[in-house]
Amino acid sequence: MATNVILARMGEVTLKGLNRGRFESQLMGNLRYRLRQFGKLNIFQSQSRIWIEAKEEGNPYFENDEAAKELMIAVTQVFGIVSVSLARKFEGDINDIDSNAKEYVASYLEQNPSFKTFKVECKRGNKSFPMNSPMICEEVGYFILENFKDLSVDVHNPDFVLNVEVRDYNYVYAGKMMAHRGLPVGTAGKGMLLLSGGIDSPVAGFMMASRGMPIDAVYFHSYPYTSDQAKQKVIDLAKIVSRFSGRMNLYIVDFTKIQLDMVKNSPHDMLTIVMRRVMLQIAQKLAQKTGSKCLITGESLGQVASQTLEAIAITNEVVDMPILRPLIGMDKEATVQISRDIGAFETSILPFEDCCTIFVAKHPKTHPKHTDIEAAEKNLDIEAMVKQGVEENLEVIEI
Ligand code: ATP
Ligand code: MG
Repeated sequence: MATNVILARMGEVTLKGLNRGRFESQLMGNLRYRLRQFGKLNIFQSQSRIWIEAKEEGNPYFENDEAAKELMIAVTQVFGIVSVSLARKFEGDINDIDSNAKEYVASYLEQNPSFKTFKVECKRGNKSFPMNSPMICEEVGYFILENFKDLSVDVHNPDFVLNVEVRDYNYVYAGKMMAHRGLPVGTAGKGMLLLSGGIDSPVAGFMMASRGMPIDAVYFHSYPYTSDQAKQKVIDLAKIVSRFSGRMNLYIVDFTKIQLDMVKNSPHDMLTIVMRRVMLQIAQKLAQKTGSKCLITGESLGQVASQTLEAIAITNEVVDMPILRPLIGMDKEATVQISRDIGAFETSILPFEDCCTIFVAKHPKTHPKHTDIEAAEKNLDIEAMVKQGVEENLEVIEI
């Protein structure tokens, strides 16, 4: 009897030399966690690849190609995986290989109706199998040609490669779903993401997680100037990022009083910078309390007034931790592309503002100087603001 299994290939992890074991076991643990909703599974490594099988009969995700797709997408969201294929596993001789290859190709062509050319590649690990690899390739190739009159062989540039492996069991598979590569989350220290409801910060979180960094997030909420829907949007974005980055805590800072105080007591053209400096200090305090070693923002050089080099320099001054800005040199289009790829874009462009117009100056200073910031903060009790942000009405949501 044949069963479906899923084959996942590892990327950069395998280049890790002495650390390889640690990276691989992190990857396996992350996969188990990510796939926990798909029933009891056997997940194991063999031949430097990862195999995923149902432990019990009747697991719906292994019944057909369509259902398997959902599980495969989840596998592609685990950093460290390069690509995923659906394979068919069975025992028997060359006749069984032929018949399983035929069934596999029939269902594969249903998913890919435009495919017209193929070739067969074979690996034989079981040396007691009576045919060698070229013979198996030839036999299976002929059998497929006989059974699919619209297909022809193209050894140089085929639409698909039909892989046959003869090992402890026999396997056939074709095609690959590409994954997001990167390093397994948990192999780097944790970071605190400043998550707004925009396009950029979820992408920034995704990018740092792709380098192995677990993530917590902090959102500064100014209710009622920013609505409950704006907050829900941030929660939804955190969930989207967490499909890739794993478990996270989302901290929601009550920012209303702090912002009103700023509006009242500092010049409007410096509001954004003053606000960002306070945000970063609150974020740093939260990071220190919860084990994060850096801050992450979605800033991109020159995108808005608060993202000029001078403004960035002045906001940097107030914190000691590294502030990682993975989008700093990226074009907006490239960021939007990633946002779409990770399924965040539709949520990010929902119209609920993450900051209300009363808090944004019409003509913010783009090249703030030190004297500007000193004057702007002169009438503010920054320390009290930071303390208030960290301590008062702080909400924590486990994502
Ligand atoms: P985004 O698309 O991520 O909102 P943006 O292009 O709108 O970014 P800004 O509004 O200047 O840029 O914000 C720059 C960065 O500051 C954001 O990427 C985010 O990391 C952080 N940030 C801004 N507003 C908030 C907020 N209300 N809560 C948490 N972080 C915020
Ligand atoms: Mg924004």
